[in-house]
Amino acid sequence: MPSALPPPLRIAIIGGGPGGLGAAIALSSLPNVSVSLFEQAHELREIGAGIRIGFNCWKALELLGAANGVRGHVKEQILHRNGLTGELVRSYSASDLSLPHKYFAQRVRRTRLQSALLAEVPKDIIQLKKRLVSLEDLDSGGVYLVFEDGTAATADLVVGGDGIRSVVREHTFPGHAIKFIGTTIWRVLIPLSSISHIPDISSSTAWWHGPSGHVYFSRVDDPSENAAGEHMFEIACRNVIDPSTSTEKRFSWGIPATNEKVESHFKDYDPRVRKALAQVPEGLWKEFSAFAGPRLETVTAWDKVALIGDASHPLSGNTSSSHSPNPKLAISCSNTGAFGSGAAFALEDAWILAQSLSYARSNDKPVSDGLRIFDSIRSPYYRRMYEHLDQQKKAMVEAKTSSADRSFQEVLNAKVGSFGGENLKWVYGNNIEEVWREYLESVGGE
Ligand SMILES: Cc1cc2nc3c(=O)[nH]c(=O)nc-3n(C[C@H](O)[C@H](O)[C@H](O)COP(=O)(O)OP(=O)(O)OC[C@H]3O[C@@H](n4cnc5c(N)ncnc54)[C@H](O)[C@@H]3O)c2cc1C
Repeated sequence: MPSALPPPLRIAIIGGGPGGLGAAIALSSLPNVSVSLFEQAHELREIGAGIRIGFNCWKALELLGAANGVRGHVKEQILHRNGLTGELVRSYSASDLSLPHKYFAQRVRRTRLQSALLAEVPKDIIQLKKRLVSLEDLDSGGVYLVFEDGTAATADLVVGGDGIRSVVREHTFPGHAIKFIGTTIWRVLIPLSSISHIPDISSSTAWWHGPSGHVYFSRVDDPSENAAGEHMFEIACRNVIDPSTSTEKRFSWGIPATNEKVESHFKDYDPRVRKALAQVPEGLWKEFSAFAGPRLETVTAWDKVALIGDASHPLSGNTSSSHSPNPKLAISCSNTGAFGSGAAFALEDAWILAQSLSYARSNDKPVSDGLRIFDSIRSPYYRRMYEHLDQQKKAMVEAKTSSADRSFQEVLNAKVGSFGGENLKWVYGNNIEEVWREYLESVGGE
């Protein structure tokens, strides 16, 4: 008689952002698992305008079978300008990267990414209105999860995909806390038609840099998909202050902001920028404050918990944005924080976690072995990211001491010149499938 299958591995994923949805797709494809995704929201609704999808993210989306559903604006030409004068500081083209066209970076509506992932998540595994409030490592095995509505669940493996304010992280790394790091971001999507009459605003993806932040403009739609009148345009403004001077209550998710508040930070900017901001209808801006906390040495806990996405790398506060008492230096870094790749990191985590578990189980090893493999691949990657941020911080401090005689334009030239490039290929050019292949080769596996 054939032996009975062991009971399925109970997997609880917390959070339905890119990381949680990616994990739901990847883990559901494993044999003999029972996957549930718990999301606090009443409906899965993305806020926050657009998102960049680059090569690293395309690769992860392909592996998850969701790449074809994601369409947006191909960022053929990218400009950096002095936001005060409009002077062009740097321009580069996507084709400079010699990638196949399908891997060119795109700016897409966040809702588009979410619906492409959702379409691949098996039906009926998502439970909404389930805000996790605590979790406990059971001596008898498994993890006991308690939700705000008074219900509970037990899982053999918990995947913390619950973002920067992760409750899973809070419980598995007691004492870990995040705080406001000084960066505020305001984002909006408006009809492209409402902005297209302003010279130089809608023709390319562009950053207009100022002394304490920037304004970012980009289209977000694939022009072949819908009627021209339906195309939307993204504006994302960023302002950096010394966090110790902030007196407001801060929120990491999008809260409403008035036009007056947003525009007040960009009054010195080129008239084209101010005109563009003035086109935004009142009531549409959403404000996000950036938070970060101490870095984690490991992205797993209790031999039963994996942290993925923003929950796993709460970027160290004082390195993820640069503010300085010298106004010429308070230029926010667009390639710090999550390197404009937070969604890619979350999806890479999700896919690698599934491969690691699958590999361990197919070799008759326990879940804890799978988690060790996952950690051995992803923790060093995040450590490299932290080291990069440390170097950036050091460069900023050095610049601060030598900047007394440098103009804003000079500082800007140096800053913009350091964006992207070969030194960040390990981020933007990361091919997660290749990473897994290398792991298998290193252990002599298949
Ligand atoms: C202003 C801004 C601009 C950005 N731009 C880019 C970009 O251009 N490209 C890019 O790749 N990334 C970008 N990012 C980063 C990217 O948005 C994140 O890295 C990505 O969303 C992380 O995905 P995640 O699934 O880990 O977390 P999240 O997207 O934060 O999702 C977490 C989910 O968990 C749910 N949740 C939280 N707590 C609980 C709980 N206790 N119980 C149940 N559910 C819970 C939340 O409701 C949410 O649905 C940007 C971020 C910001 C703030």
